[in-house]
Amino acid sequence: MRRAVYPGTFDPVTNGHLDIIRRASQQFDEVIVGVLVNSQKTPLFSTEERVNILKEVTSDIPNVVVRSFSGLSVNFVEECQAQVIIRGLRAITDFEYELQMAQTNRILNPGIDTMFLITSLEYAYLSSTTVREVAAFGEDVGRFVPPVVAEAMRRKYLEKKAQTEG
Ligand code: ADP
Repeated sequence: MRRAVYPGTFDPVTNGHLDIIRRASQQFDEVIVGVLVNSQKTPLFSTEERVNILKEVTSDIPNVVVRSFSGLSVNFVEECQAQVIIRGLRAITDFEYELQMAQTNRILNPGIDTMFLITSLEYAYLSSTTVREVAAFGEDVGRFVPPVVAEAMRRKYLEKKAQTEG
């Protein structure tokens, strides 16, 4: 079975991530979306929330599985019995970091290769960070993320606002 892992933080998953997941799912028998635990000190969404959101937005793609993991991606990929790491490339600025990661991972585990999908033009500008920034100012982010994510972000920032005001 040709299996790939798409690792990331997905805080939150955007339309750009979803585009990569869909395209990867057409190239592999199974794509495992790996949600990194504790990659940032305080992600907006907990690991469980990120996993549940990803499960919901990929529920129409039968060969996609969502799992959380901690530690090194290559170790998770091996544990999944996958052969490939999928990463998305948006711009040249992504390239240097991704190149280093791919080469390091190849030294750590020569049996695993990294494959890059170039982002579709309409999502090239999108990042989870900018989506969080826009949502934090109370703006609707429905153009950047699936509707369930936009709604979850709206609720999250309302909760945060209530906490700081309370
Ligand atoms: P990480 O913190 O590991 O970079 P992210 O969740 O930010 O995790 O991103 C996971 C992967 O998705 C990375 O390969 C990143 O380049 C890619 N990615 C992020 N945003 C987009 C987008 N708009 N279009 C295509 N790929 C993207």
